[in-house]
Amino acid sequence: MNQFDPQKEFGKLLETLTENHRQSDLEMVRLAYDFAEEAHQGQTRASGEPYINHPLATAKKLAELNLDLPTIMAGLLHDVPEETIFTIADIKKNFGSEVAQLVEGITKLGKLKYRGIERYADNLRKMFIAMSQDIRVIFIKFADRLHNLKTLSALPPEKQLRIATESIEIYAAIADRLGMGKIKGELEDLAFPFVYPEDYKWLKEILPKEYKIREKKLEKVKRTVVKKLAEKNIPIEVFSIHGRAKHLYSLYKKLNRPQVNRDISKVYDLIALRLVVPTVADCYATLGIIHQLYRPMPGRIHDFVAQPKPNGYQSLHTTVFTESGDVVEFQIRTIKMHEEAEFGIAAHWNYKESNGNLNKNSVKWIRELLDWQKQIKDSEQFIQTIKMDIFQNRIFVFTPKGDVIDLPENSTPIDFAYQVHSWLGDKCVGARVNDQLVSLDSKLKSGDIVEIVTDKNRKGPSPDWLEVVKTSMAKSKIRNAINKLRP
Ligand code: MN
Repeated sequence: MNQFDPQKEFGKLLETLTENHRQSDLEMVRLAYDFAEEAHQGQTRASGEPYINHPLATAKKLAELNLDLPTIMAGLLHDVPEETIFTIADIKKNFGSEVAQLVEGITKLGKLKYRGIERYADNLRKMFIAMSQDIRVIFIKFADRLHNLKTLSALPPEKQLRIATESIEIYAAIADRLGMGKIKGELEDLAFPFVYPEDYKWLKEILPKEYKIREKKLEKVKRTVVKKLAEKNIPIEVFSIHGRAKHLYSLYKKLNRPQVNRDISKVYDLIALRLVVPTVADCYATLGIIHQLYRPMPGRIHDFVAQPKPNGYQSLHTTVFTESGDVVEFQIRTIKMHEEAEFGIAAHWNYKESNGNLNKNSVKWIRELLDWQKQIKDSEQFIQTIKMDIFQNRIFVFTPKGDVIDLPENSTPIDFAYQVHSWLGDKCVGARVNDQLVSLDSKLKSGDIVEIVTDKNRKGPSPDWLEVVKTSMAKSKIRNAINKLRP
């Protein structure tokens, strides 16, 4: 096993951060580290290594994602309330409420354990709400989970299977929806050998040979394309051979498609050529040049630039026949598209944007969350993967401040009002949904932003409301209020 020296590793973390942060701010990160180290003093992980290695690895991953300092500090402190004698209040006292709230979010999330399908609904809902309150919580959870997966072999087999399954079915699926392709791939690949050990072994056996053959063939194609692009004055920023072999689990899923039927020779993009060029116009010009050089395979040209994937992924894809009759996939994109594909929503949530600007970004995130909600309904694959069908009878609506309120399907603004506060329900006279005045018995949809219009002189709820409300909470509160009003 590698000798892991926490002090040295922490030094590396600081080094990464120095590029983008002031020295004085980094002092806080050091204090957070010292606090965590002290708190976890004497504790070890199941693997036998000092406990501090885990929060430190988590923080390093967050720094790699370019996240802001409060997130990195929360990464260092994330297991303190659960595993040590120190509390969230201690963290708040020492590091302020922003860091404390992040740690609290991650602590709550940590209590949700995957226990099979019956427990999904509740867990996913809580996770969803935690995310909508502060998306950084899920980033910390990803980083935490990645390190847990790396040290998973130290745990008993049942635990390995549970954690690995949960990582694929829930966390990787969420990372995918957030467009965080890199994290999704890492989560899946670390979990894969624990969930499907036999298939993993099989794939590791057949892959290297196939891979080598194809890589060799691509070198020639690459040289041809480089020359042609130079002639046409298209600068190449990056030209890499991108192997699906890097993401074993996604290759495994592809191999299991009926039309592939575990025949690796049918996976055309086992190795793809990835071209990063300066502008969108260059992308299309490059596509044209490639099609002049090689005959494209019908039905395999995908314009994800004009029509991005639901998670925001953009690129031009084409599969062509080379002179020697081989089949090669090209992926063409700009730097910006490339970063988005790797980091997804986290690319928008880095230090540059979030410093002192949290509110603006929270609103932006909520907007993205709303879009995501809408997409969930059309995305069959997502529904299958994380079994969102459990959600079908629930909707998520928002207060004007962006808080998520979770209601049963067909709920009305009255249900919403009582869910927020009894007073709001009792005094409600109207509602605005997405800035439009609506009647109190109208049906809310997921993603609606609901604002309740009140009249403080209103005596109380109308008995008719009992006929239209969906939630038992609203029903009982309306009955209570009516009983009180009775002379
Ligand atoms: Mn942890």
